[in-house]
Amino acid sequence: MRSGGEKGAIAARQKPCTRNAPAARLTEPRADWHVVPMDTTDLRLHAPADARPRAGGEFVLYWMQATMRAHDNFALNYAIERANELGLPVLVYHGLRHDYPWASDRFHTWILESVADLYADFEAKGIQYAFWLDGSRGEHTQWPAGQRTAGKSEEGTGKHTAPSSPSPFTLPSSLGPTPLVALARRAALVVTDYVPTFIAPRQIRGLREKVETPVIAVDSCTVVPLRYHDKEHSTARGIRPVLMEALPHYLWPVENLEPRVRTRVALEFEPTVIREAGNGKREVGTGRSVAELVAACDVDHAVPPSTTFRGGTRAGRARLAAFLETGLPRYADQRNDPNQPDAVSRLSPWLHFGNLSIHEVLLAAQAAGPADPYAKFLDEALTWRELAHNFCFWNPKHRTAAAIPEWARKQLADHEADPRPHLYPLEAMEQARTAEPLWNAAQRSYLVEGFMHNYMRMLWGKTVLQWTPNAAECLRVLEHLNNKYALDGRDPNSYGGIMWIFGKFDRPFYPRPIYGLVRYQSLRAAKDKFDVARYVASYG
Ligand SMILES: Cc1cc2nc3c(=O)[nH]c(=O)nc-3n(C[C@H](O)[C@H](O)[C@H](O)COP(=O)(O)OP(=O)(O)OC[C@H]3O[C@@H](n4cnc5c(N)ncnc54)[C@H](O)[C@@H]3O)c2cc1C
Repeated sequence: MRSGGEKGAIAARQKPCTRNAPAARLTEPRADWHVVPMDTTDLRLHAPADARPRAGGEFVLYWMQATMRAHDNFALNYAIERANELGLPVLVYHGLRHDYPWASDRFHTWILESVADLYADFEAKGIQYAFWLDGSRGEHTQWPAGQRTAGKSEEGTGKHTAPSSPSPFTLPSSLGPTPLVALARRAALVVTDYVPTFIAPRQIRGLREKVETPVIAVDSCTVVPLRYHDKEHSTARGIRPVLMEALPHYLWPVENLEPRVRTRVALEFEPTVIREAGNGKREVGTGRSVAELVAACDVDHAVPPSTTFRGGTRAGRARLAAFLETGLPRYADQRNDPNQPDAVSRLSPWLHFGNLSIHEVLLAAQAAGPADPYAKFLDEALTWRELAHNFCFWNPKHRTAAAIPEWARKQLADHEADPRPHLYPLEAMEQARTAEPLWNAAQRSYLVEGFMHNYMRMLWGKTVLQWTPNAAECLRVLEHLNNKYALDGRDPNSYGGIMWIFGKFDRPFYPRPIYGLVRYQSLRAAKDKFDVARYVASYG
């Protein structure tokens, strides 16, 4: 494990890490743990070693990207802390462009719904928040499977290496005509969200190339900071004891800091203001609805907003409260039944967009108990979630077949010539038009709701291996379908989940055609596990 270690100004902020306490059992009351919460700021920072505030800066800029909340936000806290030290105000800038991969009505709607909460929450805190919506038109960034060049590396963030070739996540026009660069040039410091995959790492690099102001990325992704681990863990069994030992130090309510200077910053652009309209709808400052605003954006209008999920912290907290009341007590027993959607939290979309912090979710679940379901929930939301984040952080090839463990890659390669029952074109799979009603129903849950039950994601993914000629092609199909439709897609968990299909984090099983020793799950056998007809009917 790391003991942390940035140089210069950042090193001066480090505090010692208390790791000599015995690992606590999860169900023990916090007061008995006899440990202190850690100042985790050091391990959460991803900054150039020589980062110093720019002299003459007018404010500290928090460039919000992935952590769309005004609370429990380590990047926001860091921005406030530095601004208070410098005697400057904090400005929160949040931009939404039309040309990020898989941009659609579905994700734009979610983000605009989140923005309504952000305006209200920042206003209550006396922090200036400015949202900018890209109204420009341009070539769409479509990412159909097969178009992407296989084998390209993504952000090797754990090793802090630059990828050797351009990533398919490169945004077409670099940072585009957004107000960001101009604001960053006026700032003393830019603070932003650290995420180990998708476009954020490249956007950060792009800004660093354009401005002299230091850009400091702060990790709010996980309970235990990504930099706490000094290696890629290959199994849940490996990372679990490390996380459990660290947990008493890290699972505490996140302090919410207050800015000292509240002077408003003059803006050279007109922010897009979205507010709760009072009738449950959200309205844009101009009186237009979110739907009208999204319709005017140059994104994929063929992927509609979710029929069941709504973006923002308020909707996320409502779902959390409902889950704690009726779902958590059933979680351990019923979480594998796709016909019991309320027995799982369905919180992953709000976690993905950062509307809720994992700290808030786990602390609320711990307080609600009971102990057994909480322990099971913790194993998913801590162990499996942080394993996926650790994988993306350390493995620069996490989007490619090279990230499949060697034994599994060999097995799948050895079985490439095995006959496949079907080789469906992408479109047939995408439109849920295969010969398998259960698979189609799962795909329809992505098409319509933007969400799929975990048990179905496993079956859904394993089946595509039978319908594609090899692992690399299967990977492209899964990435495309998952990231285009899932509200929680484009996340470290997306790559953890998809790679599990190919044997990642898993052990060898019994030999089978196509899969070799990679674990097989069968649509046919599903009828022994749950009421298949009922599930198919609910997505008919
Ligand atoms: C092929 C495949 C694709 C997947 N794609 C995604 C994705 O795009 N985004 C995503 O967030 N998850 C993904 N997962 C993981 C998992 O299916 C979802 O996190 C889970 O179904 C979300 O539902 P929930 O919030 O009700 O989970 P709950 O069971 O209520 O768990 C609570 C939280 O724990 C985390 N979690 C639960 N299971 C896992 C897991 N297996 N791996 C990592 N974290 C987990 C999630 O953050 C989840 O919200 C994928 C899994 C597979 C097999």
